Amino acid sequence: MLQRQVGDIVINRIIESERPDFDAAQFFPQITPEQWGPYRQRLAGWALDPAVNGLVFPMQSFLLRTRHHTIVVDTCVGDHKQRARANWNMTSSGEYLRRLAEAGVRPEQVDYVLTTHFHTDHVGWNTRWEQGRWVPTFPNARYVMSEKEWTYWSAMHRETPQNQIADSVIPIVEAGRAQMVKNDFALDDEVRFESTWGHTPDHMSVHVTSRGQHAVITGDLPRTLLRAGRPGVRVALPVALLRPGGARGQRVLVRVPEGLSRGAPG
Ligand SMILES: [Zn+2]
Repeated sequence: MLQRQVGDIVINRIIESERPDFDAAQFFPQITPEQWGPYRQRLAGWALDPAVNGLVFPMQSFLLRTRHHTIVVDTCVGDHKQRARANWNMTSSGEYLRRLAEAGVRPEQVDYVLTTHFHTDHVGWNTRWEQGRWVPTFPNARYVMSEKEWTYWSAMHRETPQNQIADSVIPIVEAGRAQMVKNDFALDDEVRFESTWGHTPDHMSVHVTSRGQHAVITGDLPRTLLRAGRPGVRVALPVALLRPGGARGQRVLVRVPEGLSRGAPG
């Protein structure tokens, strides 16, 4: 179990899967095979599977245990969900809840679920299928979400149905478990959102601090940073409002690695 201590806070990675889910050539459509050359060996075995030219991205939650709260940040892909991506479609491994149990946490013990953004691989285990309907996986948790992100995605869902909104977000809202917040939301003096928009309209990072130590859980921010730091590189993602470099990108680029180097689980 991958674990990191940040002051009084214990952080675990809860890994649902770690496979070459993304075709490297599709993900970076402008990178030529020659440009990949120097990186293949360096990435092989952990971030790249050369046999299928697939990028390995862990699908993971971060479990935070503070003195007061048990918190889950993002909820991976989920089981029994209809998804366009074959590896994510109608999975039924139960692996996620097993990993959570290995960390010593039952779903009913979770006090808060913090959502960095509403992409499919970040909200899936918000809900689970029970007796013919989607119910909150964490029945006692308050699910903290960006109000702006909710407004954006629910409007898109009305135009073009989005499966992950239908089966993983709306049931939380209808169950009365959602807490819609602004991007300056602070749970307490240890855990707060930090606005890192770009990957989606109101993407959040989660800033954790205790006893002078810091960690920043960045959701999908690094993909935005790649764009910010290397404006010649285009990332093929269903992103909204992805913006090229500039003052904002540079500021985050400087600030977030500082937090990462001090506290993020590896
Ligand atoms: Zn994303």
